[in-house]
Amino acid sequence: MLIDHLSQQLQQRRALGLERVRRIAEGPCAPQLPVSLPGTGADADAAQPMLAFCSNDYLGLAAHPAVVEALAEGARRWGAGSGASHLVSGHSRAHEQLEQALAEWLAPLWPEGARVLGFGTGYLANLALVTALGEARATLFTDRLNHASLIDGAQLARAEVRRYPHNRVDRLEAMLADSSTPLKLIVTDAVFSMDGDLAPLERLLALAERHDAWLVVDDAHGLGVLGEAGRGSLAHFGLRGRRLILMGTLGKAFGVAGAFVMADPVIVEWLLQTARPGIYTTAAPPALAEATRASLEILRGPEGDARRAALQARILQLREGLAALLAAHPDCGWSLPASATAIQPLLIGDNHRAAALAERLRQAGLWVPAIRPPTVPEGTARLRITLSAAHRPEEVARLLAVLGQALQDPAGGPR
Ligand SMILES: *Cc1c(COP(=O)(O)O)cnc(C)c1O
Repeated sequence: MLIDHLSQQLQQRRALGLERVRRIAEGPCAPQLPVSLPGTGADADAAQPMLAFCSNDYLGLAAHPAVVEALAEGARRWGAGSGASHLVSGHSRAHEQLEQALAEWLAPLWPEGARVLGFGTGYLANLALVTALGEARATLFTDRLNHASLIDGAQLARAEVRRYPHNRVDRLEAMLADSSTPLKLIVTDAVFSMDGDLAPLERLLALAERHDAWLVVDDAHGLGVLGEAGRGSLAHFGLRGRRLILMGTLGKAFGVAGAFVMADPVIVEWLLQTARPGIYTTAAPPALAEATRASLEILRGPEGDARRAALQARILQLREGLAALLAAHPDCGWSLPASATAIQPLLIGDNHRAAALAERLRQAGLWVPAIRPPTVPEGTARLRITLSAAHRPEEVARLLAVLGQALQDPAGGPR
């Protein structure tokens, strides 16, 4: 019986400590927010105030007054829903203007010209890209640590899929040299979501050029954050060219929702005509496009520069603070891998120790997720700390202080 079967499976997950719960935010996305647990009957009054280091709102734009106002104004002008998919009647002038604004902003990356196509979410955009391009004659070369949406897309595509060990350009090169498929797609996250490290995009693009392949870059965590005018990881490395296919998301640094693909106009037209995750779904509300355009205006200009500088300062503060803590406790077993992005993994190793540390932080009013296998490799359980331009220096200092206490107190601490 289905219900019995599922209950048993759920019970098993619980026993393995794999059950997930959704905490309920009682306010807008911000470093400080009231949070409650489901099923406690709690309302905003009973919620616990938390200092969060877990959102992807890297520039603090999710609740920016100008973006919120554009959303409200957009709703007054366009109503709430789009009413249909883009190819039927759901494609509004608001969507069109957003695609054009994004294309104009990122134009320097494609000297030969490129076009933008919007999607409802990054998950859908990746499914669309990989399935529409990964036809039977294609081979997808994908990094082992790529985002779930790229892995799912590869499974859905009928293409051959070859996975290379994380960032191992040498292994990828051997695979490319060995392949005779007419269409080769190298697929990679630009900033890896659990480690914060960057893909060697310069070398990957050179490989693509040498082996007549295309480079698909998922820049969910770099767009808006890295590069001149926030143009992302490709701009950070000074890359440009026709062989680039970019997927950018609009729910992270942009603080809104949605995603887009930018590439050669012929590729984009192919996606528009054939990509099912773009066709068989209702277009996002036009008001979201208006809010995203407002966000882009902020992000690409001087205020964006100031926010990127603030974020870099917090990253430096956290890394220097953690380095000092680790130096003072050389036997603690924690480590801080290199990451120059807003994603800062503090490696703990053991699953239970990582969970206990996250729980200790939670009791101190700090919200930092513990990430365990299978999301990350066995033996690399970690705290995934994400920073935002909206964090104040005192808030980062508070996180460091609580981590320092955990290191000093063996009961709640490391070994
Ligand atoms: C978040 C994320 C996505 C999915 O984007 P959504 O807009 O949240 O669906 C895709 N790729 C990577 C690397 C991500 O981190």
